[in-house]
Amino acid sequence: MADAETATPVEENTVRLQVAAARQEESGQGIARMPRSAFQALGITEGDTVEITGKRATVAIAMSAYDEDQSLEVVRLDGLQRGNAEVGSGEHVIVRAAESRPATRVVFAPANRDMRLQGPAQALKRNFAGKPLTAGDLVATTGQQPVQNMPPEVRRMFNAPAYALTQIRLSVVSTTPKGIVHIDENTEVELRAEFEAPRDARAVVNYDDVGGIDDTIQALREMVELPLRYPELFTRLGVDPPKGVLLHGPPGTGKTRLAQAVANESDAEFFTINGPEIMGSGYGESEKALREVFEKAGKSAPAIIFIDEIDSIAPKRDRVPGEAEKRLVAQLLTLMDGLEARSNLVVIAATNRPDAIDEALRRPGRFDREIVVGVPDEKGRREILGIHTRGMPLGDKVDLTELAKATYGFVGADIAALAREAAIDAVRRIMPKIDLDERTIPPGVLDDLYVGREDFLSALKR
Ligand code: ADP
Repeated sequence: MADAETATPVEENTVRLQVAAARQEESGQGIARMPRSAFQALGITEGDTVEITGKRATVAIAMSAYDEDQSLEVVRLDGLQRGNAEVGSGEHVIVRAAESRPATRVVFAPANRDMRLQGPAQALKRNFAGKPLTAGDLVATTGQQPVQNMPPEVRRMFNAPAYALTQIRLSVVSTTPKGIVHIDENTEVELRAEFEAPRDARAVVNYDDVGGIDDTIQALREMVELPLRYPELFTRLGVDPPKGVLLHGPPGTGKTRLAQAVANESDAEFFTINGPEIMGSGYGESEKALREVFEKAGKSAPAIIFIDEIDSIAPKRDRVPGEAEKRLVAQLLTLMDGLEARSNLVVIAATNRPDAIDEALRRPGRFDREIVVGVPDEKGRREILGIHTRGMPLGDKVDLTELAKATYGFVGADIAALAREAAIDAVRRIMPKIDLDERTIPPGVLDDLYVGREDFLSALKR
């Protein structure tokens, strides 16, 4: 008998596969798609549990690859799974057959701040029944998250803040026994109320969460992820990776989210500087704050510093009235010049007004790469709709392609708001079935809760 703390390999054999991203609609389901050849080598069939090891080991349910992938030595994993295995797309993992044991106890905790679940233990038991789990993993389920801009009449019904259905992420805090387990009817499931920092808090946003801008992701991966992950490639070639990348595009197109995703997927620390916020500090304070972030990031490399709305920190110097603003631009230039090209630190800055920033910032060695983040087309909107309705129970008539057509001109932030509004409508519909004096909602009512086509259409009209 092998060490009881780890999975028992059913077969000696393992396979080595290259990681690719899961299809978006399958994201969050805990499955790994692999070619039939891998099933044969491992002696397993569809639905069996596999252990997937990158820098860390995680578990998944094995499913057969799509036809077009059968000849590739590829395993498709979603962003959560890649985070759990600590591996990026394009890298390799070792897959082996594994067995899960029934758990006597599993403890979950919210992996996002501001999250709560209602009637949790039962719902969680149902959602995760039979799926392999292991402590330290982040997993996805449907739950409730606070809603901003909740209409007052709905807010009054709930106790503020109000919550809407969305896909939420939980960390598996501990399991008894340890190792790979699954939940069955005898498992005691506990949900900690408090946010518990997951093993890797940064695994929370990844490429799967940014839709409709595949080319942009690809460009940023090459400019940022590659040098952060494999600095030796660049040293070997004698070329310097970029120190600064400027993202430009209209507000709400996903620039911030993209920068976070790149940091997570490159295993880099993420630091944010908010332009307008830093401008608001007192005399000399703004420069100091900038210096401090650069210093901290330098010590935590590999790291990414994200400067949001850089135009407010670094406007054209001949256009600014005060000395203070001029000094701040100068400080930023000094900091950029002080960065060593191979320091494993990249600064990503975002603006929707690229022409408003000081030209000196765009010289070589500073923000010398630029990527445009555009307004999504129909296909892109379809993808973003998929992301924001992921984990929502959708009515049969909901057609995301129809909605993608109807949302011409929407950016990602608009689509996120639309999905939120539609979910609120769905909640409104079941309100009459709820006894407001009761603190919890009966499970039968929650089962009837779905977001329908009408909810989206009426949200669209607002
Ligand atoms: P920006 O930095 O370009 O202003 P953000 O990244 O802050 O935009 O986007 C705001 C919110 O809008 C995100 O948190 C996300 O919910 C949604 N969003 C925007 N763009 C996208 C996208 N391309 N894919 C998915 N969601 C998006």
